[in-house]
Amino acid sequence: MLPLSEHSLCTWTNPLKLRFFIGHARNSFLKNHISRRNCSISCSTNLEMEPYFSSDVQLTNAKVIYSVAPAKGHNQESHPESNLRVPAIVDALDKMELNPKHRGLEIIELKHFNPASVEDVINVHEKAYVLGLEKAMEKASQQGILLIEGSGPTYATVSTFQDSLIAAGAGLAIVDAVVAASKNSPEPPCGFALIRPPGHHAVSAGPMGFCVFGNIAIAARYAQRIHGLKRVFIIDFDVHHGNGTHDAFYEDSDIYFLSTHQDGSYPGTGKIHEVGCGLGEGTSLNLPLPGGSGDISMRRVFDEVIVPSAQKFKPDIILVSAGYDGHVLDPLASLQFTTGTYYMLAAHIKQLAKELCGGRCVFFLEGGYNLESLSYSVADSFRALLGEPSRASEFDNPAFLYEEPSTRIKQAIQKVKAIHSL
Ligand SMILES: [Zn+2]
Repeated sequence: MLPLSEHSLCTWTNPLKLRFFIGHARNSFLKNHISRRNCSISCSTNLEMEPYFSSDVQLTNAKVIYSVAPAKGHNQESHPESNLRVPAIVDALDKMELNPKHRGLEIIELKHFNPASVEDVINVHEKAYVLGLEKAMEKASQQGILLIEGSGPTYATVSTFQDSLIAAGAGLAIVDAVVAASKNSPEPPCGFALIRPPGHHAVSAGPMGFCVFGNIAIAARYAQRIHGLKRVFIIDFDVHHGNGTHDAFYEDSDIYFLSTHQDGSYPGTGKIHEVGCGLGEGTSLNLPLPGGSGDISMRRVFDEVIVPSAQKFKPDIILVSAGYDGHVLDPLASLQFTTGTYYMLAAHIKQLAKELCGGRCVFFLEGGYNLESLSYSVADSFRALLGEPSRASEFDNPAFLYEEPSTRIKQAIQKVKAIHSL
């Protein structure tokens, strides 16, 4: 557990320690998105155990199913994790004709879903944190925006609690849909939850690194509990280490967490020798990539590390923490992934899911802060999931790239293969 988690819990639950900044948070998004059975928000609990997905959605011809949770009220001026991110992706999908308007039943947007219940969230987070965040909304309504010191920086507005439940619920609904489709087809649609706030840094006891609830961790537990999918393989290719997901499953033999991230980047966790402990020994794989690693490096990592790890583990479902901040144009880090790298990753992960787990595969949006490279890369990921050619060359500019640290990458791959007997 990270020391920061205790601090985070403390700052959320003790209003005296909160630093208040005047902002203009709004709650209109929530009001517009309340759907069936959404009393779970106001009464804090939802004892129903029904799936989040309505089975009347036609999935027979679908290749991609996605949900959108832009969290418009969760925003801080000039913060990279802004409420412009998801709309930028949605606009790009429309312009590039990658949505239901242009594709009929091939691409489905799952529009009606419920926020995650507190019961589902507390399978991953401490109840005191979840209820403390709900309570902190009263302060946020008076003060505008709340900042959590030393957490990334992470902020909260008056709608953050509800927006975070909606984001997690949008992921659970896609899991429901993909699992339902996999019962009728060997090639179910791939899922993509276009959600924020992101989740992979959030720890059991608090928010961290722009993340509020661990969306993918909540989905992993949900897939096990509701759908009986015992073995979950999580691939996290965000440029930062997914410490929250890592911590949640570090001692769990049924959930494999594989993270590639830039060596030395925030939050500094995810060292190569961290392999899990107790029953979970061997089911955490951390591969820090030297700065400058790019497309060539990641292709090698996929073939030599990700594929054999997944084959060895034999998952029932693959979940993906899809962060796009490893892009060469992203302002927050210094890897050299390209739009084409993200196409390759999505195409190969889809193939892996087809070979290993009935095609069950769901992507969860994590980071990605250059709106252009983010939206182009997600669009090209959609093309990969559709089985269509990449259009990355229209966006990627080789002039931005420099030589990758091939010797250091080779050494890191050899080391991780030796540690994990791959
Ligand atoms: Zn990130």
